[in-house]
Amino acid sequence: MTPKAYDPENIFAKILRGEIPCNKVFEDEHALAFHDINPQAPVHVLVIPKGDYVSMDDFTASAPEELIVGFFRAVGEVARGLNLVDPGYRLLANSGADAHQEVAHLHVHIFAGRRLGPMLVRPD
Ligand code: AMP
Repeated sequence: MTPKAYDPENIFAKILRGEIPCNKVFEDEHALAFHDINPQAPVHVLVIPKGDYVSMDDFTASAPEELIVGFFRAVGEVARGLNLVDPGYRLLANSGADAHQEVAHLHVHIFAGRRLGPMLVRPD
């Protein structure tokens, strides 16, 4: 279950503090983007806000507007910087248990680099 309180020892908090490395693709005052360690597509990048937010729910309810705007601008900038606009890309933000959120620091996945197929894998 995704905890309601922010755990400062989560792995993305450690990446933000520079305690563990990441394969960085973008950073500004609002966001950090890095390659996913277990890529699910030829391009699989994670974008995280610079702030203590567990999930999309927490972020959109509690973050200051400047950070919300800056974060979403960063997501777009990362995609443009990776030349993904023309071929296209998919964004995904898992929030909570049913979505299988594993890391309790808000992150948006950017998937690209091949035809990604239908939106969800359907259960058998
Ligand atoms: P989610 O299931 O939406 O919470 O996604 C968590 C993602 O974080 C997964 O795709 C993991 O492969 C990725 N991940 C976990 N640890 C790291 C890490 N140290 N560096 C980069 N990506 C990571």
